[in-house]
Amino acid sequence: MSKITYPLNSLTYCRNCLNETFGMNLQRKDLYIYPYPMKCHRCGESKNVICKARFPYNIVLQSKINHMPDLISKL
Ligand SMILES: [Zn+2]
Repeated sequence: MSKITYPLNSLTYCRNCLNETFGMNLQRKDLYIYPYPMKCHRCGESKNVICKARFPYNIVLQSKINHMPDLISKL
């Protein structure tokens, strides 16, 4: 069985939405952010959107995403 992974950047979420969705408390320094504001797909506001997370949060988030089929279906 092949395991498909859904990268964090396909969520297009701002940091607030990311923390609320995954029950985390990620800080700016834990994340890579796009250099320009983008529309967050959750709150709909133009914000600094997360491109990816630093280790080990990238692993944690990837694991959480892969266990959230409802979320994946919206990507
Ligand atoms: Zn948001």
